Amino acid sequence: MDVVELLPQLHLLRFRVGQAYLWRDGTELTLIDAGPTGADADIGEAIRALGHPPGSLRRIVLTHFHDDHVGGAGELARATGAEVLAHCLDAPVVRGEVPGPPPVLEDWEIPLHAEAAKHLPPGGFARPQSVTELSDGEVLDFGDGARVVHVPGHTHGGIALHLPRHGVLFTGDAVAASPVDGSVLLGVFNVDRARAITSFHRLAALETDVACFGHGDPVLGQAAAALRETADGYRAAR
Ligand SMILES: [Zn+2]
Ligand SMILES: [Zn+2]
Repeated sequence: MDVVELLPQLHLLRFRVGQAYLWRDGTELTLIDAGPTGADADIGEAIRALGHPPGSLRRIVLTHFHDDHVGGAGELARATGAEVLAHCLDAPVVRGEVPGPPPVLEDWEIPLHAEAAKHLPPGGFARPQSVTELSDGEVLDFGDGARVVHVPGHTHGGIALHLPRHGVLFTGDAVAASPVDGSVLLGVFNVDRARAITSFHRLAALETDVACFGHGDPVLGQAAAALRETADGYRAAR
């Protein structure tokens, strides 16, 4: 796992598949997503290496239920006492009570999806014992007020987190950056692509300087302009 400082209070944690982010308010940490199976050990080590005791992890906010974002959450919560939070529509899947609805793949996504599945670590992972359920518009107590933005489409209960005081947006897989050229893209493997596009427009309307995606390099300045340019393309394509 790579650890990259994006801002003094924000680190990117990059796994073989997918990414998580660590936000710091003073001595209190918030993790946005928790990586694939087994990521808890690496994340715990990164927290220690950055000089924080494990108990400083106060919460783990999951952008959606997919394994590459939830894999480390159960073990980390058990080890640190952190609260786990997810949207009310995805929380039952996160807890393992119901299976997650599979994506409805576009033809061009089928080989991509098969390839991506090969890179996910095999095996199950510990599910969080309890998951606090979130709704659109709630404001969480980190980053000087982190607003929950419900962005259905990738999953039914996908969320983004917008920190207006810092101009930071965590998109989960509602948005991605191209591994080829870093351009901003609609996330792939959606349960409802039309709704995902609507959600993308909602995110593009926010005032954002730094955009942090579930996959691909973050945009570290004037991110709103990059999102709006891509959003305009989807509008034109309709
Ligand atoms: Zn996903
Ligand atoms: Zn993902």
